Amino acid sequence: MAATEKTFYLETFGCQMNAHDSEKVVGTLISEGYRQVETVEEAGLVLYNTCSIRDKAEQKVFHRLADYKKLQKEGKKFGVLGCVAQQEGHKIFERAPHVSLVCGSASYWKLPGMLAQLDTDIIRDDRPRSSQLAADGLVRITGLDDRQTDKCFETEFTARTNPHRGYITIIEGCDKFCSYCVVPFTRGKERSRTSESVLAEAQRMADLGYTEIQLLGQNVNSYKDPAGKKSFAELLDAVGRVPGIRRVRFTTSHPRDFGKDIVDAIDSNQALCDHVHLPVQSGSTRMLDAMQRLYTRDQYLERISWMKAAKRDISITCDVIVGFPGETEHDFEETLSLLDEVQYDGVFAFKYSPRPNTPAIGLDDAIPDAEKSRRLNFLLERQRSIQQKRNQKHLGESVEVMVESRNEARAQWVGRTTQNKTLNFTSDRNLELGSYVPVRVTTAFPNSLVGELAI
Ligand code: SF4
Repeated sequence: MAATEKTFYLETFGCQMNAHDSEKVVGTLISEGYRQVETVEEAGLVLYNTCSIRDKAEQKVFHRLADYKKLQKEGKKFGVLGCVAQQEGHKIFERAPHVSLVCGSASYWKLPGMLAQLDTDIIRDDRPRSSQLAADGLVRITGLDDRQTDKCFETEFTARTNPHRGYITIIEGCDKFCSYCVVPFTRGKERSRTSESVLAEAQRMADLGYTEIQLLGQNVNSYKDPAGKKSFAELLDAVGRVPGIRRVRFTTSHPRDFGKDIVDAIDSNQALCDHVHLPVQSGSTRMLDAMQRLYTRDQYLERISWMKAAKRDISITCDVIVGFPGETEHDFEETLSLLDEVQYDGVFAFKYSPRPNTPAIGLDDAIPDAEKSRRLNFLLERQRSIQQKRNQKHLGESVEVMVESRNEARAQWVGRTTQNKTLNFTSDRNLELGSYVPVRVTTAFPNSLVGELAI
């Protein structure tokens, strides 16, 4: 490494929003003259993009920072980004004094300036500091105070890792305040990008050869075009009409803001994928109320009925929380009966764990962990048989997949259907990654399909 070369290593945890934030951070650093390296050892700057959605996230971050510290050499700098950065703030400097930069996701737009400051020896932490912190001589920079910002982290320097499928964030933050969730506290209030800038980015990606776009947001369908030109459904349709774009996905949706116009858009535009992820969290209206989800079981099922009535065969997936405080056996059975009624194509189920700063942390009537595990396993087993049945209906069908990768060990190609199902298949021809081919489905498993090239 040349003496003056600026290098960085970035490790990312968490959801697709975090993964895409990291793509934007990487692009920003490269545009500022940094080079990305593969190991912590090689890097001058080590960044850790954190997630606080799961239990004990903070402890995991501090353990990781302690691991990094062992590698600390003179001049190496460490930064913490993402939700734990926002949540723990200045406490990170106290527990991990080798850290130089702490930046929440709502402040990433300031990164270029913060990176420039990192190269100085000025301590910029803006709170009264202990003498120990003042005396250690390290640069300390924080980006924590922008949760009320109107700015989105837009950059033309996004370094996308997949050459065929790319993410576009259309809305950041969340105004819903579900009682168990840290996101409104870590990512701030909702702010949307203009439809014009989203469409310009989609066009740029199409020009670069991308054929699939995934629109991202904590609540994509709460999208409000600041220029007032397009609703979410209209934006979805417009992205699907960008020349060169063959598939458009979106995640995550909130049932309260999920309008029938979204289903109508899917029905009328082939480029919009046949898949909707609509988190439900519980089948019990009583629990939904305790979770402050802002809809009832019946209102949720109404949205499902719109999708079931669509001309296209829309696959539906959801998130479920089991063991929320006060969840009775009857509430849990209501969740199971919802699964039976909807016949989901996939369910991401989690045991409830209390998160800092959330209203649910004060609720009593906690469910023992063993009981949460029992409910989770029971639910997953029930869902497994539903998915097996759902996937069996594809047997004999010829479906189009995007070729995503090659599994040499199994001598199979890995494809993805418009319904977001993994289809592993054989082909006697060599295929190009990112191409679209028809595949005949020959075997169905609960979590994947198997087939053979149909041309
Ligand atoms: S809708 Fe609820 S669960 Fe989703 S990000 Fe907002 S507060 Fe969290």
